[in-house]
Amino acid sequence: MAILISGMTCPLCGQPMTDGFDLSGYPAFISNKRDPLYQFSDAILHRRCLEAHPLASALAQRYEAWRSANRPQARICRITGQPITNPDDYVGVGFLVESPTHELYSFNWAHFSRHALKGWIHRDELRAAVERLALSVAWEGEDLKWLLADLAPPPTLNSPP
Ligand SMILES: [Zn+2]
Repeated sequence: MAILISGMTCPLCGQPMTDGFDLSGYPAFISNKRDPLYQFSDAILHRRCLEAHPLASALAQRYEAWRSANRPQARICRITGQPITNPDDYVGVGFLVESPTHELYSFNWAHFSRHALKGWIHRDELRAAVERLALSVAWEGEDLKWLLADLAPPPTLNSPP
């Protein structure tokens, strides 16, 4: 969660935020710097300013979706249908795109078992789509690099060490 430091001002109204005031805070829960909601990620602001903001309901929905996707019991592998209990075997896709017609829309908040992903028949298709998003103007930020690393083909026996 974002931390209130003395002297901080509200990013929406520019007025000071004092301790004990009516404040809202969000953790760093949005990866894409081009996302209109990115301004609220890792931010503290006046609750009244937030409630009056045109994106307030979109923000509340996204935050709930993020919280829901991050529950341990939500970690069901898209490929195997099995729960993923080993944190080292877990790949969380997170939020990718807003538009329901986008090729990656159905992968928003998807969970994968890392070992299942390595052998998945659609892995290369998904990797190509994520690469297109990462290179597009719709995305800015580093987090897709981690997902792309998990989608890379496994090294073959002939690969150099
Ligand atoms: Zn404010």
